[in-house]
Amino acid sequence: MTSVRTRTRMLERLRAQGICDEAVLSVMGQIPRHAFVDEALAHKAYDDVSLPIGFAQTISQPYIVARMSELVNAVPQHGIILEIGTGCGYQTSILAKLFKTVHSIERIGGLVRNTRDRLSELQIHNARLRHADGSKGLPELAPFDAILITAAAPIVPENLMDQLAMGGRLVFPVGDSDQELRMIERLPDGFTETRLEKVKFVPMLPGTV
Ligand code: SAH
Repeated sequence: MTSVRTRTRMLERLRAQGICDEAVLSVMGQIPRHAFVDEALAHKAYDDVSLPIGFAQTISQPYIVARMSELVNAVPQHGIILEIGTGCGYQTSILAKLFKTVHSIERIGGLVRNTRDRLSELQIHNARLRHADGSKGLPELAPFDAILITAAAPIVPENLMDQLAMGGRLVFPVGDSDQELRMIERLPDGFTETRLEKVKFVPMLPGTV
């Protein structure tokens, strides 16, 4: 059930859904998605569904992980990326294969501890996890070549735009019941905002637990 064939089928489906960045597809073929979900759900790990990861949170469906990875992977520099909403670390692991260093922030302490152990078991050593409220980003480490948010903010997180390097992209879901994926790019003549597609993420919440 977690065979190479199941993963190959996931990649074929991603291609059919329009994912065409070969680096992203290759990394998604390498990272064992079943290692990020409860054993009882491992048989569903390569289906195009979101799954529970404990603490009332979910791992996003493969398509949306691929789509967001493709959007951030198109930036000119692949040095440092900030992720807000580590969750089980599946997206973090993909980013760790596409960027030199990933800084990822998660507000739920239990998830940070579990994910730290999981990433070290998977020999992923270039992701730095922090237990904090990520809504203000990490100004002390900015600028980032890209910023990816995996929880939906009620309004556009304009405060994070200043933490983008030139050519950098901020990819984020926005909205409450009606959410949309958006991208803000920092270009020499200013910022541009692109509205992408309808999405469904857990909400971005304040503080830490
Ligand atoms: N990308 C994740 C899915 C994350 S679900 C994965 O692959 O598993 C969204 C995560 O964002 C949840 O774990 C939630 O706790 C976290 N989150 C919500 N608000 C946050 C905030 N203000 N700061 C940091 N993390 C936050």
